[in-house]
Amino acid sequence: MGTEVITIDGPTSSGKNSVGFLLAKKLDYRYIDTGMIYRAGAFKILKQNIPPSDIEKILEVYRNLNVRFEMDGGWKMFLDEEDVTEALHEPAVSELTSKVSAIQQVRDIMKGLQRKIAGSGRVVMGGRDIGSEIFPDASFKFFLTASVKVRAQRRFKQLQRKNPTIKYEDVLSSMIERDKRDFTREASPMRVPENARVIDNSNLSVEQTVEKMLQHIHA
Ligand code: C5P
Repeated sequence: MGTEVITIDGPTSSGKNSVGFLLAKKLDYRYIDTGMIYRAGAFKILKQNIPPSDIEKILEVYRNLNVRFEMDGGWKMFLDEEDVTEALHEPAVSELTSKVSAIQQVRDIMKGLQRKIAGSGRVVMGGRDIGSEIFPDASFKFFLTASVKVRAQRRFKQLQRKNPTIKYEDVLSSMIERDKRDFTREASPMRVPENARVIDNSNLSVEQTVEKMLQHIHA
């Protein structure tokens, strides 16, 4: 399978999803956004009012996640057959996701799930530890990044569509906090995977970023 998995890791709002989706389309691969799978668990935990201290129930949620993705006409994610693509970006979901994803047992369950979803390959998978922990033997590994201000601006624009009163400063400070947690947590801290190509896309469009990746893949 190693020849048919392309990994894209990087911090939140680094463009992994737009870039991963377009790259997958161009290669006729599937795109899997693993952040959304982590988010789906947090969404269910909130919905079921599970206290963050109830590890057993949290693990049960992750063990029983029923998710599916669609690529046609834009990327969509379904949880229990409901389209949750927008709902999963609510700030409360982001906050909780960043916390539960630091639990090692959650990551162990997610490892199996992510490998199962990748199945027989031809997949571009985006996340935090895909090239390091989930598919260390992937054929191509990328690490996408951009300055925190550029990333906060991207997330701000996305959230503003649903909530016009949201403040850029709040988005920026919560992003700095989440970055810190992702980079410093004990369980799979975010890092550049071995042999990954680093691309800073602060000043690149999605198309330009994908172009760079394709050049590398075809080189
Ligand atoms: O990429 P996104 O911001 O949607 O991810 C949400 C959260 O899920 C991140 O803050 C990160 O803590 C966690 N995550 C992770 N490992 C992944 C993908 C996401 O820990 N492979």
